[in-house]
Amino acid sequence: MDLSLPRELVALGEEARRVGEAAARKRPHLDDPWIAGFDREFSEELGRRGWLGMTWPAEVGGRGLSPLHRFVVTEALLMVGAPIAATWVADRQIGPTLIAHGSPAQQRRYLPPMIAGTVTWCIGMSEPDAGSDLASIRTRAIDADGGFVIEGRKIWTSFAEHADHCYLVARTGEPGRGHAGLSEFIVDLDAPGVAVRPIVDATGAAHFGELELDGVRVARDRLVGRRDESWRQLMGQLERERAGLDRLLSNRALYEDARALADRTDPRVRDEIARLETGYALGRLLVLREVLGQAPPSFSAATKVFCTEHEQRVASFATRVFGAQALLGGRAARAAMYASAYTIQGGTSAVLRNVIAERLLGLPKG
Ligand SMILES: Cc1cc2nc3c(=O)[nH]c(=O)nc-3n(C[C@H](O)[C@H](O)[C@H](O)COP(=O)(O)OP(=O)(O)OC[C@H]3O[C@@H](n4cnc5c(N)ncnc54)[C@H](O)[C@@H]3O)c2cc1C
Repeated sequence: MDLSLPRELVALGEEARRVGEAAARKRPHLDDPWIAGFDREFSEELGRRGWLGMTWPAEVGGRGLSPLHRFVVTEALLMVGAPIAATWVADRQIGPTLIAHGSPAQQRRYLPPMIAGTVTWCIGMSEPDAGSDLASIRTRAIDADGGFVIEGRKIWTSFAEHADHCYLVARTGEPGRGHAGLSEFIVDLDAPGVAVRPIVDATGAAHFGELELDGVRVARDRLVGRRDESWRQLMGQLERERAGLDRLLSNRALYEDARALADRTDPRVRDEIARLETGYALGRLLVLREVLGQAPPSFSAATKVFCTEHEQRVASFATRVFGAQALLGGRAARAAMYASAYTIQGGTSAVLRNVIAERLLGLPKG
């Protein structure tokens, strides 16, 4: 089977790589570019180049290109550590969710700034007592004056401090009804009643935060899709969140630097590099299958487990190659400290293995 890309796409990938490298040089380190590389100026450049909303239909302002076009551009940008965080969530999942479930008015209002790269979104799913088990979300949206009043808390919200809008899941039905009665809202983070508190992670960075929503009023036209029926919308969104190259390439730049430094005269090191290269090649094929719509429903759980566990093996390899430097701080220490996040964010490996067992293999619920 010939898996090589057409010449036009190879050229597009090379162009994206050059552009990404120039932007990456301004970063303090190259790792985790889609979560730690926040740069609004570069986002606007992505917009000017037509590299946001690439696959979205022309009727909503997108370019109507194939998923492979987006694949080659994002692959090149991630590989070189380009700072794509400011628009990543919108381009990866919120825009496609609004295209699938948003009203025409919502699409007209919210998609153009995403395509221009001038806006940042965050995802308000997790709560202090509802991470893996999203069905136990307690944040409530109560009917009031023709709209809703939102009360509750969200946590681990990536980009909360910088975001303009939050795509927030709240309970509109009766409390305690599990996944029934959840709805999705667009909440402006400068609205009265929204408080954002940054959370410092183990690496010393504060890319995520906690949101407190105290009597936040939202108009009825901020409800996305069907009231009380968020669950199905949410599952579609999680498939996008789990199945992309960001789950494979977060620390690819680190890997390449570690490989260059590693003692390749040692057969054990060569063996480890061979296993990592094989893991990377397999992960890339899994993601390609998702991107091309060839993976079965829920298979994103398996793709994410495989790819993020690969990222952790990369971090472990780099830590050993950098040796004592990894204890002294700097990039190698950061990589080692951050690695546990790969198999937590977007659903933990333990929980996704349950999804694989129940939904893909048809095993009984544990
Ligand atoms: C870097 C980072 C960025 C994030 N960004 C966002 C964001 O932008 N928006 C957002 O909404 N959330 C975000 N999250 C939150 C993330 O989705 C949750 O942390 C994750 O889903 C796990 O939930 P939890 O932390 O509540 O852990 P818990 O659900 O409390 O899990 C604790 C432990 O129990 C295990 N466990 C739980 N249930 C089961 C089960 N049924 N079977 C077996 N084991 C189980 C888990 O595997 C885990 O080891 C982010 C997290 C990280 C680390």
